[in-house]
Amino acid sequence: MVISSQTMDQGLIERPYEPDRDGSSPNRNLAPLTTSLDGEDRLRIGGCRLSELAATYGTPLYVLDEATLRSTCRAYRQALERHYPGPSLPIYASKANSSLAITALVASEGLGLDAVSAGELLTALAGGMPPERIVLHGNNKSAEELALAVERGVTVVLDNWRDIELLSELAPGFLQPVRLMLRFTPGIECHTHEYIRTGHLDSKFGFDPDQLEAVLVHLAACPWGRLTGLHAHIGSQIFELQPHRDLAGVMADALQLARSLGHPVSDLNVGGGLGIRYVVNDDPPSIEAWVAAVAAAVVAACQDRGLELPRLLCEPGRSLVATAGVTLYRIGSRKQIPGIRTYLSVDGGMSDNPRPITYQSLYTAVLADRPAAEASETVTVAGKHCESGDVLLRDVQLPPASEGDVLAVFATGAYNASMASTYNRLPRPAAVLVHEGVADLVQRREQPEELLRYDVLPARLSPVP
Ligand SMILES: *Cc1c(COP(=O)(O)O)cnc(C)c1O
Repeated sequence: MVISSQTMDQGLIERPYEPDRDGSSPNRNLAPLTTSLDGEDRLRIGGCRLSELAATYGTPLYVLDEATLRSTCRAYRQALERHYPGPSLPIYASKANSSLAITALVASEGLGLDAVSAGELLTALAGGMPPERIVLHGNNKSAEELALAVERGVTVVLDNWRDIELLSELAPGFLQPVRLMLRFTPGIECHTHEYIRTGHLDSKFGFDPDQLEAVLVHLAACPWGRLTGLHAHIGSQIFELQPHRDLAGVMADALQLARSLGHPVSDLNVGGGLGIRYVVNDDPPSIEAWVAAVAAAVVAACQDRGLELPRLLCEPGRSLVATAGVTLYRIGSRKQIPGIRTYLSVDGGMSDNPRPITYQSLYTAVLADRPAAEASETVTVAGKHCESGDVLLRDVQLPPASEGDVLAVFATGAYNASMASTYNRLPRPAAVLVHEGVADLVQRREQPEELLRYDVLPARLSPVP
């Protein structure tokens, strides 16, 4: 069924919890695909009543919907198979949300994974991601991280000359040549927050395009590595398709150069960046439309240059996991400032979701047990941290809410848990994976005492008994 964006948006304003059930574009929904109202008009996701999850596991709670996660994985894989005539592999950018459960799920859907640290790499390996489907990124990899990647058979993305120096120092210990990809800055501008723009020339990531030939010549003489791929990534939460199309041409030029210098480059990794819908007015392309545009541009760019089609890799992070996630909070105090604003405070905030304070990001929320009630009050939902800027949702419409109500914030599956801190010594939330009426704990709630585990009190400072 094709639902026009206008019809869908109208419905979303009235019923933001209601997903577009055709399921082909989960990144265009506000709520997970399995979101429903039960007989008592309370919100369920994955068959589990949200207020019961909050009571059982406590709040704040990250809820992840398995069906939505699997459907985004499949949307990428199937769209690549439909629109790209050569081989392809979507690679999950695990910085969006790194855990054993998500890794296992993404691996079972046949995707690869990208990691940027020893921690993400160890999570991927322990979660069962085959090493040959893992790539290690990073603009400042340590020798230990590189050694771990090489030892476990993971592909290393060269970001700068220092990566090459460190690897050549480690090389005498290599049993076989390392699989390498080369990241370069494509010089493409796109419209997104400047902190998450990476494709423009003034970026800390990747080789400058002017250096490309020199690096390729240098690598051709390095017996310890085999350059199998090229990589570029232009940014995040991008709604435009044109920058991704432009990227294909820039990358095809680089592919031509690399092959002409004798490198057996088979992989073209075009990065991630597709945006998602956080609020009704967001209008991102569907996964299908994004893949179709990228695939067509890569095919055309290769044909123009007479190049054999590479394997097409892409690296979605946000669009793979964001919509699958919902955060539950319990509402506590209310502060009404006459003529100014009403604050509702919740039991989490910038420590479990730093996106609003970092990027001024917007979100959509409903009351878990009264999602369909008339949203007649304008409120600002604040966190419990000692910062005035700790606001999760500013001037949003909610039904009159009181202490104890459970608030569900949508589209928190990406860049929330993975960016969480323990600011103000708030323990990090638990996470549950919901599926067909069953909730599995996939991340245990941190306990306040555990926050002391790395503190060391020198004897001379110990309190006198
Ligand atoms: C962050 C990142 C991604 C994923 O970006 P999204 O916008 O979350 O899809 C992909 N590749 C690289 C190299 C990244 O740094």
